[in-house]
Amino acid sequence: MTVTSGRSDKTSVLNSLEHAHAGLREHSELIIHIATGRASSKTDLASLTGLSRTTVSKRLDALTRRGLLSTHLGDSTGGRPAMEIGVNPAAGVVAAVDIGLAHCRVGVLDLGVRLLDARYVDIAPDAGPEAAMEGILAALAELLTALDLQWSDVRAVCVGVPGQVDAKKGTPIRPVTLPGWEGFRPQDAFSRVCEAPVLVDNDANLMALGEYRARSEAVQHMLFVKFGSALGCGIISNGTIHRGADGIAGEIAHVRLRGTDYGDLLCSGCGNSGCLRAVVNGAAIATRLAAEGLPVKTKNDVIRLAQQGDPLALRAVREAGERLGEVLAIMVCFLNPELIVIGGAFAVLQDDLLAGVRSVVYERALAQSTRGIRIETTTLSADLGLLGGGHLAVEHALSPAGLGTWF
Ligand SMILES: [Zn+2]
Repeated sequence: MTVTSGRSDKTSVLNSLEHAHAGLREHSELIIHIATGRASSKTDLASLTGLSRTTVSKRLDALTRRGLLSTHLGDSTGGRPAMEIGVNPAAGVVAAVDIGLAHCRVGVLDLGVRLLDARYVDIAPDAGPEAAMEGILAALAELLTALDLQWSDVRAVCVGVPGQVDAKKGTPIRPVTLPGWEGFRPQDAFSRVCEAPVLVDNDANLMALGEYRARSEAVQHMLFVKFGSALGCGIISNGTIHRGADGIAGEIAHVRLRGTDYGDLLCSGCGNSGCLRAVVNGAAIATRLAAEGLPVKTKNDVIRLAQQGDPLALRAVREAGERLGEVLAIMVCFLNPELIVIGGAFAVLQDDLLAGVRSVVYERALAQSTRGIRIETTTLSADLGLLGGGHLAVEHALSPAGLGTWF
């Protein structure tokens, strides 16, 4: 008679669970490399992951059997075209929402992070989160229908908001300019229409991720500044978003400027005086220029005048760049980035904005930390936030936990 102890039963169950989890981890790692465009062949995958070619083949077969991968002939460069591996477009989609102070845009992306369709949603900034979510869900439902998809095809959702986000709870902390959003859970609104997990993140973080992933060069340490109606900064460190202990790393808007003419200006974001945001944001610049007699009401008026070469508007933009440069010079000393990218509505001003930023960063930061640094404006589209949100949602959908729905 063979006696099996309860202890060895338990050990064998634990071993097989551990084995299954390790398998999912490898499946996840491989398919995320493929989805994000870092690999399209077994050779790429073996070299990126350190797994043997046999293990790579076995995992790819399992992913293909579950409908997650497809192969196609790559471009020929003279010889026989090689087989390329891609994420199966029919495997599912993710949804991304980009809520700004002056806009709201929603999009649907496939699991290869390609934007299939997107549209603006007309919501009043002071309408409150429930009304906003109604408009967002209706717009996404229309996009899905137009793409011949349903909510059940959505594998994950990412919502970007213009303010601090509690990284642990996934809720906005203090988007003072969006009334009623503090502690609001977009997850609850989505749970009425789909079962997909819903991630919430700061909009500048998502734009930073979108910019970082769109660049083919090997940048690992990058700052992305969003300068438009509001001001924010996303930090990419070692290739991933750096959020800090509470999810508010990069909140440069409320760093205090001292010893400037702006030290007494009240910040509409936090109520303190002399914040960077009190000087560097579209409304603040428009107010200052209007006081000097220029016909401006909004940030778009400021941008238009600067593009037309108005000397007062250009001076204001350059000054904003210099003030921004003061804070970025400190961040450069702390974080030693290789690249600073400025996005948001003011990015279209390119060199007129960059001149101020560069002059102060190069003057104030350590020469060793600015030697190789590039400071640029983004060249990417208005969908940067949706693309960053799409990347985060796809990575969640294809994480070991997300893959469990297929395995
Ligand atoms: Zn402030």
